[in-house]
Amino acid sequence: METLYADIIINISHEALDRVFQYRVPFSLCEQIRVGQSVRVPFGAGNREQRGYVVRLSDQAEYDPKKIKEILSIEEDSVSAESRMIKLAYWIRENYGSTMIQALKTVLPVQDKMKQKEKKSVRLMLPKEQAPGLLDEYLGRHYAAKARLLAALMDEQTVSWERVTKDLKIPRTTVAGMEQDGIIRVETEMFYRNPGPGGMEAEAALPLNESQEKLIQEFKADYAAGERKTYLLHGVTGSGKTEVYLAAIEEVVRKGKQAIVLIPEIALTYQTVCRFTKRFGDRVSILNSRLSKGEKYDQWLRAKNGDCDIIIGPRSALFVPFPNLGLIIMDEEHEGSYKSEQTPKYHAREVALKKADMEGAAVILGSATPSLESYQKALDGKYRFWTLKDRAKEAVLPDVYIEDLREELKQGNRSMFSRRLYELIGDRLRKKEQVMLFLNRRGYAGFVSCRSCGTVMQCPHCDVSLTYHRDGKLRCHYCGYEEVMPEACPECGSPFIGTFGLGTQKAEAAIRKEFPEARVLRMDMDTTKRKHSHEEILKTFSEGRADILVGTQMIVKGHDFENVTLVGILAADLSLHANDFRAAERTFQLLTQAAGRAGRGEKAGEVVIQTYSPEHYCIVTAAAQDYEEFYRQEIAYRTMLCYPPVWQMLTVLLAGPSEEECKQTAQRMARVIQNSGIRVIGPGEASLAKVNDIYRQVLYVKEKDYKELVKVKDRLELWIDRQELPKDIHITFDFNPMSS
Ligand code: ADP
Repeated sequence: METLYADIIINISHEALDRVFQYRVPFSLCEQIRVGQSVRVPFGAGNREQRGYVVRLSDQAEYDPKKIKEILSIEEDSVSAESRMIKLAYWIRENYGSTMIQALKTVLPVQDKMKQKEKKSVRLMLPKEQAPGLLDEYLGRHYAAKARLLAALMDEQTVSWERVTKDLKIPRTTVAGMEQDGIIRVETEMFYRNPGPGGMEAEAALPLNESQEKLIQEFKADYAAGERKTYLLHGVTGSGKTEVYLAAIEEVVRKGKQAIVLIPEIALTYQTVCRFTKRFGDRVSILNSRLSKGEKYDQWLRAKNGDCDIIIGPRSALFVPFPNLGLIIMDEEHEGSYKSEQTPKYHAREVALKKADMEGAAVILGSATPSLESYQKALDGKYRFWTLKDRAKEAVLPDVYIEDLREELKQGNRSMFSRRLYELIGDRLRKKEQVMLFLNRRGYAGFVSCRSCGTVMQCPHCDVSLTYHRDGKLRCHYCGYEEVMPEACPECGSPFIGTFGLGTQKAEAAIRKEFPEARVLRMDMDTTKRKHSHEEILKTFSEGRADILVGTQMIVKGHDFENVTLVGILAADLSLHANDFRAAERTFQLLTQAAGRAGRGEKAGEVVIQTYSPEHYCIVTAAAQDYEEFYRQEIAYRTMLCYPPVWQMLTVLLAGPSEEECKQTAQRMARVIQNSGIRVIGPGEASLAKVNDIYRQVLYVKEKDYKELVKVKDRLELWIDRQELPKDIHITFDFNPMSS
């Protein structure tokens, strides 16, 4: 039998996580040892026994085998929270490509032990009946400070430290002296920093409607039978998905287990948190990027100690170490923000499923516009399919109009507003109702289109939009295809061809010009830089102190404004022609959500979608709120062009200061892949070909089977290890990328 070695992290709660140590596995333990287990090992010069965690096993010694120490023992029942996390880190490393340290930093976001907050107070230890006598004695001897403290304690038994030092002005030496005499005791109580909204009045659960009840009964039955399934809850906005989450959590908590609720950061609003807090009180904890280090640490500790049952947060909340996890909920599961932008570029949905599997928890994925990935799995029977078809409250779905901007141009209307939208805005201003105007700039990556006929310049090989580069060329960032920017539209010959330049600022200016009487608010990256500006804008609008809110996709998430009866989407094409195979899916999601903002109250709503491609299936199906039809068309497109989720895709991004070195290394890597008989697309320039003087090249590999792609990544990692690559080239892997 070959000798087995294990890479071990020593005592992770105290040591910095930046290195592993190699140990030999004694023959007697070879059969038992697993990644993630905790072991006892001799450590340091004195060979002190320490606890460590196995992060990797291999049959190769990294240095002189004679100097490698041996593992002493495997700890029984060593599946602690940490070791489970390490196992998960290992899985992340393997499946997304990163170093073990990067993966560990992802799953163990809290590395430094932080001091917990303390609350100090002073308690009277002297029997109560002896106190008056002592007080007299103090007074007699003119011990004024002692007398003040004792008098206060005779009233209250314990007094806060703050009162002792600030109000009563007792010197510390006096306190120390009285403590030594056994008259008082200084007590310290630890408490958690709690970032949540405290002091909420509890709210009882709403009686579920019939559709919700059916789902919860099924959940309960599965749960009771010990079946931990994955459910995809497809329900239009306002259909009562959150009520279903709350009921499922209630069930899980009742069984003594805990729940993680994942929410995209942007949707993690005060309202959401309040709703959960009202139902579950102080058993709810929150994580978000705005918390201080100390607050984050305390939430982690609360979860670990079982001092809360529910944690709500963005994707990193997944790594909270609950002792007995029962359920993971992922709201808006289609959201791009669930994919990490840093290495390891993991997708929280996949990690959630893995974690749930490891810990025996159920998963509920919820969305009004599920990702193609999840919908396909639900159709295949891998997930349980749940639907909520109607809005829970009596609110009617809005009327939707598609306005053809090519037609407007033909009619001589060159403004930003179609005639219908212009008219409807005027109508709402007169009726004192509110308007939301939405401009999606994300994904705007310099595509070129004809304003006369709507043609968009596309790559003949990849069916994604070409990107305009400053050298006057159009390039496909998937395959590197390029052509010269045409002077006239190749379809209709019109000279009105160019990049699409429209921003929220421009839109705001246009509104102010056209409707000088309207009070206008703008919400985008520029106007929300300050800490609370986001909330302030929304508050101003919801209190009716503005008539029109214009903004980017920030305004379409989950806010309910009763008085909004008109939603205008100024240019639906902006995101449709992003140079990205997910462009149509993203556009569909945004349009559906934006349309869902209209008519949330008693009054009926109208939605105007302005576009140069009114016949595009994504626009037509979004207008009809027809997800099934959208899915059918989109999955056909993905199948035809071998894109995810039908095929699996790996992007390898190379970045470095020398364009030549970057290109050459990319070409060498492409050959490594080709030599194993696998087809590579590229190398080509990344969509952002140069950022801060760093050049970027990409390679794409598509395979039917995800495991095959992981093998490609493994092969490349091995190759990278063995090469003398230029030091400043940075290589990252991205599986099934979410952004271009
Ligand atoms: P979603 O999460 O799908 O957007 P919500 O759970 O937020 O939907 O529900 C939308 C609205 O309908 C909320 O105001 C909620 O209080 C209400 N609602 C949900 N379920 C019920 C129910 N069973 N009875 C009465 N009102 C409900």
